[in-house]
Amino acid sequence: MQLFLALALLALFALPSRAADSARPNIVIILADDLGYGDLGCYGHPNIRTPNLDRMAAEGMRFTEFYSAAEVCTPSRAALLTGRYPIRSGMCHDQFRVLRGRSLGQLPDSEITLAEALKAKGYTTGCVGKWHLGVPQFNPGGHPRKHGFDFYFGLPHSNDMDPTPLAPKGAGKLAEQKAEWWNAPLYRDDQIIERPADQTTLTRRYTDEAVKFIRANKAKPFFLYFPSTFPHTPLFASKDFFGRSPRGIYGDVVEELDAAVGKVLDTLRQEKLAENTLVFFTSDNGPWLIMNQQGGSAGLLRDGKGSTWEGGMRVPGIAWWPGKIKAAQTQRTLASTMDLFTTSLKLAGADVPADRPIDGVDIRPLLFGTGTVSREAYFYYRGTRLMAARAGDFKAHFMTQSAYGQPKHEEHPVPLLFNLKVDASETFNVATNHPAVLSQIAQAVEKHKAALQPAPSQLLEVQPLPEKK
Ligand code: MG
Repeated sequence: MQLFLALALLALFALPSRAADSARPNIVIILADDLGYGDLGCYGHPNIRTPNLDRMAAEGMRFTEFYSAAEVCTPSRAALLTGRYPIRSGMCHDQFRVLRGRSLGQLPDSEITLAEALKAKGYTTGCVGKWHLGVPQFNPGGHPRKHGFDFYFGLPHSNDMDPTPLAPKGAGKLAEQKAEWWNAPLYRDDQIIERPADQTTLTRRYTDEAVKFIRANKAKPFFLYFPSTFPHTPLFASKDFFGRSPRGIYGDVVEELDAAVGKVLDTLRQEKLAENTLVFFTSDNGPWLIMNQQGGSAGLLRDGKGSTWEGGMRVPGIAWWPGKIKAAQTQRTLASTMDLFTTSLKLAGADVPADRPIDGVDIRPLLFGTGTVSREAYFYYRGTRLMAARAGDFKAHFMTQSAYGQPKHEEHPVPLLFNLKVDASETFNVATNHPAVLSQIAQAVEKHKAALQPAPSQLLEVQPLPEKK
């Protein structure tokens, strides 16, 4: 009898398997824009109320050393969706840091996006929110639907691009906004359905679309990429949130985003998809500090968006998958948005592209508590410049530049060295105490650079303005 049972079990597991096929989990990535490391309750903010993200962390895993792969929007998003440092795709530039409102460049067609790779494995793919990897008004090839997404609803670029002549100088910094200052187009699939987009209802509408997408596709595996427009400035919140947060409009906006996350998780629970869905929440880069009170906080980390100091690139990272990821865990191992590419493909049973360097690593052992993940070094780029590298606990800066206000980078012939476990704020340079660490990092950089083939930048060309009559 026991032998029979054993054979029956063996046969069951040996089946090539519809069972394994239906196990392909859904993937949901929610990406905040310019949300700082210190802006959530579960990351120590004293009065921005984020009960849904706090609960997500309590039911899942909160990373303390999670990194975006760039310090500004466009390269960061390119890296997340390709698993590669943006220098490899050309989605970065030293002067023009991101795609602009009239840019003609795009994520090159030769790049394989997470959406394309998952689609090839039978996933339905949707992008709801800010794209910023092409401006379809001027280059149809830059549209999300040309890069693996079946469905798109959102703004093609940042909400402060395309200001109207009515916008005063520095309008993004102001707490009190006027709708007529901004002319951003809202897309549904290939069509512009509203211009200017009513930004006060944007988060609510993104959430509705995300929920609809999940419900419509619940019978088969799906990938939902939900890059929020906010808390990038200008800040707009809907009626239910406006004026409610003690932190002001920035708090209103983050609290509305928190509610959006809550709705997505509730929908997954209601549809009985929670135990077959990985949800990951993170931010594309650190807080935009020059926006004054309308910018967020990197907490104890140094500097913010635009900089390769920790505050520019270390961001919140929360993973949730009830039944698979154990509750209430704090993960202190370094991980990055590029890892979401590799990890998602592994979860889907897809091959990681072998014809090109992929910088993301498979972090399933971290998520599921089954082992460790090794990584020789992590590289911090600003545009095409390799500014810093981290190996283990130590980070070496070869060049530094404050996010804004320091016109030129400063080179460090002897790199600055910080022990991030001891000194997360990068205050105490310990280079003279650790020559061996410096040479280990130098070797990792040599190796990285020797194999690197930078792609030509996509961020240069723009559609000229029409001539004035
Ligand atoms: Mg951003």
